[in-house]
Amino acid sequence: MLVSPSEELALGAKAAQEILKKEPECFDPRYTEPVRRVGIRIAQAANRPDFQWEFHVICKPKVVNAFCLPGGKIFVYTGIFKYATSDAELATVIGHEVGHAVARHGAERMSLALLAQLGEAAGAAALNIQTEGAMRAFDTAYGLVTNVGFLLPYSRRQEYEADHIGLILMALAGYDPHAALTFWQKMAQESKGKHPIEFLSTHPLDANRIARIRALIPEAMKYYRPYQGWLWPFIPLNHLAYGTSSRIIRVAIR
Ligand SMILES: [Zn+2]
Repeated sequence: MLVSPSEELALGAKAAQEILKKEPECFDPRYTEPVRRVGIRIAQAANRPDFQWEFHVICKPKVVNAFCLPGGKIFVYTGIFKYATSDAELATVIGHEVGHAVARHGAERMSLALLAQLGEAAGAAALNIQTEGAMRAFDTAYGLVTNVGFLLPYSRRQEYEADHIGLILMALAGYDPHAALTFWQKMAQESKGKHPIEFLSTHPLDANRIARIRALIPEAMKYYRPYQGWLWPFIPLNHLAYGTSSRIIRVAIR
């Protein structure tokens, strides 16, 4: 990995500011409250003290999308509320997106972009965050230059990892992971419709996806406790390591 976690966090924070300059932020509590409520619990479950979490709602009712930039900058477009109609379904979306961030999928892609840009020499070179190359690679990796607010699709492996991590995060946060099935089934229904949905173009629903999510639910259920006003304490006994990074997610053990 060519990008260090601290460089990635700084670039994520900068990109979040750029997005907020260009996209209409929504302050309607009908949307901001659920995003905050769910986002905070998912953030607690993710247990990343190095992240500086932010929860933003973008007022675009026709845009069905959500993403999380490095450092826990969560963006939810109001269009997603048509499909995420409960807190647990919203937790499916936010958990999945946070899964990409904790597994450093953007940094994986950014490393590829840097390699392509600079050639093999980059592998040996220390990367300076101030360099234009690093900024450009970040923009390329996230697709921010060409499409503000629309991230490029991740790979199939990364999608599967984010589904897996997201299910465990939502369970830890006290949301029943079965809600992931109802959310994705609604999306599957919609994928037959005429209008292209942003979230579906970056999250292809092939025949296997829902089946794989279903298969992951028994594991996630081990971490599920209905929310009673507090979350279970985190004890780092069990780990999930993902991606090419050594980034480890701590999961709670009863
Ligand atoms: Zn994804």
